[in-house]
Amino acid sequence: QPLETAEAEINERRLLRGSQSYEELRDSFRWPRPARVNLAHDVCDSWAKAAPSRTAIVDLRGETPHAVSYGALRHLSCQVEAWLRSQGVRRGDRVGVLLSQGPLCAAAHIAAWRMGAVSVPLFKLFRHDALQSRLTDSGAQVAVTDAEGAAMLAPFDLALLTENALPAPGDWPAADTGPDDPAVIIYTSGTTGSPKGALHGHRLLAGHLPGVEMSHDRLGVDGDVLWTPADWAWIGGLFDVAMPGLYLGVPVVAARMARFDVDECLRIIRQGAVKNVFFPPTALRMLKAEGARVDGLRSVASGGEPLGAEMLAWGREALGVGINEFYGQTECNMVASACGALFAPRPGCIGKPAPGFRIGVIDDAGLETTGEGDVAIARGAGSMMLEYWNNPQETERKFRGDWLVTGDRGRWEDGYLRFVGRDDDVITSAGYRIGPAEIEDCLLTHPGVATVGVVGKPDALRTEIVKAYVVLKPGAQVAADALQDWVRKRLAGYSYPREISFLDALPMTVTGKVIRKDLRALAAREHSAVKPT
Ligand code: ATP
Ligand code: MG
Repeated sequence: QPLETAEAEINERRLLRGSQSYEELRDSFRWPRPARVNLAHDVCDSWAKAAPSRTAIVDLRGETPHAVSYGALRHLSCQVEAWLRSQGVRRGDRVGVLLSQGPLCAAAHIAAWRMGAVSVPLFKLFRHDALQSRLTDSGAQVAVTDAEGAAMLAPFDLALLTENALPAPGDWPAADTGPDDPAVIIYTSGTTGSPKGALHGHRLLAGHLPGVEMSHDRLGVDGDVLWTPADWAWIGGLFDVAMPGLYLGVPVVAARMARFDVDECLRIIRQGAVKNVFFPPTALRMLKAEGARVDGLRSVASGGEPLGAEMLAWGREALGVGINEFYGQTECNMVASACGALFAPRPGCIGKPAPGFRIGVIDDAGLETTGEGDVAIARGAGSMMLEYWNNPQETERKFRGDWLVTGDRGRWEDGYLRFVGRDDDVITSAGYRIGPAEIEDCLLTHPGVATVGVVGKPDALRTEIVKAYVVLKPGAQVAADALQDWVRKRLAGYSYPREISFLDALPMTVTGKVIRKDLRALAAREHSAVKPT
């Protein structure tokens, strides 16, 4: 395919092009409303037809890098589809995908979508119970996996397809699906409770593009190559990176890295000539802790947890680009983002609403407020889930009138959204409502602090007191009162941590998020262990 045609095609698919301002983009944006849409067509089949030899995936898992074309990706997905059909899989049936980054992982999703079936990404680090609960809940009876995954899935009653058992491909047209027809169930991280399965329709990808493009200062610029250390089993890996890259014709790097490793990360970036990365905050924290420097990047996006102003400053220095922090959740993702190409970042805030998203900060009655409130997203957003799979009660609880309530607290600051904390994490102390994010952010600016989790500890007098659990950097010697002074001098007098404990590590989810509910339970135990005299 001639270069100009390919560039024209990418341009056609990009939302953020030309020189429009943020306000112009926001005000002129309309969600595409196609009557029919199929994800397999969008991310694979359309390219396979127009430019079969174009690189879809750069596979770095073997000894030497290997470019996988759209034609080859389609071939692979048609092999998977032939097997799914042989197993009697029909439209609407769930298909487990237990694979880490790689062509077969993408192909398995694509095969399911082409048939109108519903893919269910599963994480390779899950153990028996985590797999069981998701398989039972989703009702998947077939799964695509590798040899290692086949052993993990052996205890369950599933038909399994592995790489070495691929049949001959067939050639079937894509199912006639509409934007609201189910395509994928993605389970939430389980940071606050049991993971919930967010059921998404075929419009999910289009819903991600504005936020994805913003968080990369536009995407599809000459030479762009996209990678994330996050697994493709999560919304961040699958729909913030892999699928947008495939759709926009930006090569996606697939690499094997079971757990984040700084040296390995730097090697992947060099070997894959990676230009655009989505780093989860924990990956950035590890890079920072090891004093890593990265060259040659054009854009870095991060989100999923508070990042902190300190990290932004470090990123400009060590990564050579501003980090664009974005915000969203499995149920409705990439709703707000920073975008260095469009407006100056505001430390402590998570950017501005992505075009197409109406974000409200609302009170209990569902009315918008100028103060702190619940961050909510108006119905009609492209990436909003259809419902929680198999869970009408939770679905019902998630909405307040026409708003999807995120469960996060925030407030507006000059058009920027400030993240205050998860609703459950907000601390009530002596009549003040205190968000942990700002205090954690402040403590992280202290040179001796590696990681920190701030929670409310029950207190007879003040309802709760601010309690910080701190992990120090190796070799650092810092006293609790030095850290208290650090916060008192920088934030409000009432929000400094009245108690500080030092830990070797914080409780984390498999996706690397601090589990504050476990810290809260620890604080409650500490409280009840001390009986008033
Ligand atoms: P569960 O819903 O199962 O408790 P979870 O909320 O962690 O888990 P995800 O959907 O993976 O599951 O994460 C979304 C949440 O992550 C958001 O609701 C918010 O609390 C947090 N988050 C995402 N981006 C940011 C950000 N930039 N800053 C602060 N928090 C963020
Ligand atoms: Mg959540």
